[in-house]
Amino acid sequence: MRTELRASSTLLRRRVRVRGVVQGVGFRPFVYGLASELGLAGEVCNDADGVLAQVQGEPVDVEAFCRRVRADARPPASVEAVEWEDVPTCPQSGFTIEASGPASGSEGGRTLVPPDVATCADCLAELVDPGDRRHRHPFISCTACGPRFTVVTGLPYDRPMTTMARFPLCDRCRAEYTDPADRRFHAQPVACHDCGPTLELVPGGATREAALAGARALLAAGGIVAVKGLGGYHLACDAGDADAVRRLRARKRRGDKPFAVLVPDLATARAVAHVDDVEATLLTSTRRPIVLVRRRADAGADPGAVVAEVAPGLAELGIMLPPTGLHHLLLGLPGDPPGPRVLVLTSANLAGEPIVIDDAAALVRLAGIADAWLRHDRPIQVPCDDSVVTVVEGEELPLRRSRGYAPLPVPLPVPVLPALAAGGDLKNTFCVADGRYAWLSAHVGDMDDLATQEAFEPATGRLAELMSVVPTVLVADLHPGYRSTRWARRAVAAGSPFPQAREVVTVQHHHAHVAAVMAEHGLDGAERVIGVAFDGTGYGLDGAIWGGEVLLADYAGFQRFAHLAYVPLPGGDASVHRPYRMALAHLRSAGVPWSEDLPCVTACPPAERAVLAQQLDRDLACAPTSSAGRLFDAVAAVAGVRQQVDHEAQAAMELQALAVRALEAAGPTDGTGDADAGYPLPLLAPPPSAAAGAPLTWDVGALMRAVVADVRAGVAAGVVGVRFHRGLAGAVVDAARRAHAETGSGRVALSGGVFANTLLLRLVATGLREAGLEVLRPRRVPPNDGGLALGQIVIGARAGRADPRE
Ligand SMILES: [Zn+2]
Ligand SMILES: [Zn+2]
Repeated sequence: MRTELRASSTLLRRRVRVRGVVQGVGFRPFVYGLASELGLAGEVCNDADGVLAQVQGEPVDVEAFCRRVRADARPPASVEAVEWEDVPTCPQSGFTIEASGPASGSEGGRTLVPPDVATCADCLAELVDPGDRRHRHPFISCTACGPRFTVVTGLPYDRPMTTMARFPLCDRCRAEYTDPADRRFHAQPVACHDCGPTLELVPGGATREAALAGARALLAAGGIVAVKGLGGYHLACDAGDADAVRRLRARKRRGDKPFAVLVPDLATARAVAHVDDVEATLLTSTRRPIVLVRRRADAGADPGAVVAEVAPGLAELGIMLPPTGLHHLLLGLPGDPPGPRVLVLTSANLAGEPIVIDDAAALVRLAGIADAWLRHDRPIQVPCDDSVVTVVEGEELPLRRSRGYAPLPVPLPVPVLPALAAGGDLKNTFCVADGRYAWLSAHVGDMDDLATQEAFEPATGRLAELMSVVPTVLVADLHPGYRSTRWARRAVAAGSPFPQAREVVTVQHHHAHVAAVMAEHGLDGAERVIGVAFDGTGYGLDGAIWGGEVLLADYAGFQRFAHLAYVPLPGGDASVHRPYRMALAHLRSAGVPWSEDLPCVTACPPAERAVLAQQLDRDLACAPTSSAGRLFDAVAAVAGVRQQVDHEAQAAMELQALAVRALEAAGPTDGTGDADAGYPLPLLAPPPSAAAGAPLTWDVGALMRAVVADVRAGVAAGVVGVRFHRGLAGAVVDAARRAHAETGSGRVALSGGVFANTLLLRLVATGLREAGLEVLRPRRVPPNDGGLALGQIVIGARAGRADPRE
């Protein structure tokens, strides 16, 4: 300790309050180190509001402390605020860490539970060091890494309130846990071979190294192993074994949906995919998401590591680096028997169901899928799927915000009442919020699945309790048939599980999408933005299925400025699963006869075609839709890319992949035809009979006729894809320009699941910037329905909001 007792006249003493994600992340040892470096005396403790420090020393050093306590904090710590007051000095030498402090009891204070953190470099070094006592310990962790959110059972965040409570610390771990200078000081999940959780392989009952070796041998032999991870069970198999991947696909009833892969390190990631610096940073980040990257097909590729069956028809591959010691060991350390270099690692659930976290449920639900279960005896408290992100224009685009991100708060630009937003029915996440913070849940699942519905309500109660939010308002989608909306109405009627919640506020789907982007960009809503919301489906104010919308929006309301012209969607779900039906509906609307030279026409059996024709002519069981997602389906089907799908965005993703390949094949000079050959998608004024302020409509018929002409001329599907993306992007820019000219608003917010399409997002953003407009696009919250709840909260629970029943 450099600190000496000094004369108090020259000293400054401050009481420093730090708020944010500062508990369970090694923050007190960091403060201790910083104070020691600056020669400050004092102490630091945790309390209910975060971290509280008293520091005393030369004024210049105290000033430096107050600055650096925020600037030098490292992830996973996240400092939201630093406040201080000068207090009288007192004789003191040295700096101490107090194990715990009293709750301050002040209003509005809140301790933030950190997300799970991937194994840090220090722990990894110990994991591979034969001389270390945690050599090959699957559950190695410290104050900088390890499970957090998924093991917390309650507050305050301390070992007894985690699922580690059942593992009493051995003497050596206790010594580390109680030593302020140790990097495991108060690391709640700390454990070792002697006192920590134990691996087990089922069937057979092998434990520890034998369990690990058994699982690796099974994987090497083409087996499918269920592996208990941080936030739930995964299914793993050798990504280089086509038979194993096909078997997993068949057993999981996965269709052609892509799998993600686990690679041991960045070098292996680069052998199977093109990884730029931003992508590398995300891959190696403590959040450890799945990162979608461009698959390698060139000479530098590692051909045997990942077979085509892993992500059929797609240009991208989802890659993840090991999030825990167990995953490092599963891929093998130097000297281990050889095994798969790359593993498929996919959530252990059937499509739409929540991820399995319970050991007994895993045995039952994964019977018939897994050949074996590699598990351990540390319970998972909260299910948390892997997060999925991609990179567009050098910036992160989150597609699923879950493990490593949840429950980090999203700061809100406008204060909200204590509230819970139920989200949407697909890719459900919900959100609790109060004041200036919103907490989005981890990915829950699709609400038409019974297991998801059952998981939903307990999950809402847990998150609200953990964040000390007592909702007075429930917010839900406008769609009266959504299960999430019906749940909110039932909950308010029953006074359970949120007895303080007295009303349900409903919010239009695309308005919520736009508001989510506004909120994450910190807009206070004083000015309207031009909101472009493109997705598959959302209930409109007129009862139609919206999904290709331009809204002039703030948090208080919106005006529908433009939309894709309505086309009848015949028979709901059937037309989502069979894009050729959507194509035929579009052709009918565009006045193009159903002649058999078009692949979408021959794909439709004659009997079905006859029924469909009647349905469309008489408008039977047809809902008008302006869906951009369904327009992608229709174009993909007309171009012969795909006629039937087993997951919603499949046709669109394949059309995008073909377009990307066509652009790459063309090279920088662009051989895809005319330089700006986007299909026409003109904006039409409303008919004279329409009410004042009626929206403009995009003439999708003009676009479909151009697509048909290209298909008949033998233009390749990839080129059709390029021209379609360009046409749609040009139309968005055109509409935004018009809106700008009419309203003066120069900010364009892009949202909706269609903007997960990185090619479209790039083209639209570029075009808007060239038109002198400001582009706001999702960076922290997914553009798809996984981000919907954030928009619902800021619209429906905004403090001072006018009565919604206007
Ligand atoms: Zn660590
Ligand atoms: Zn121990």
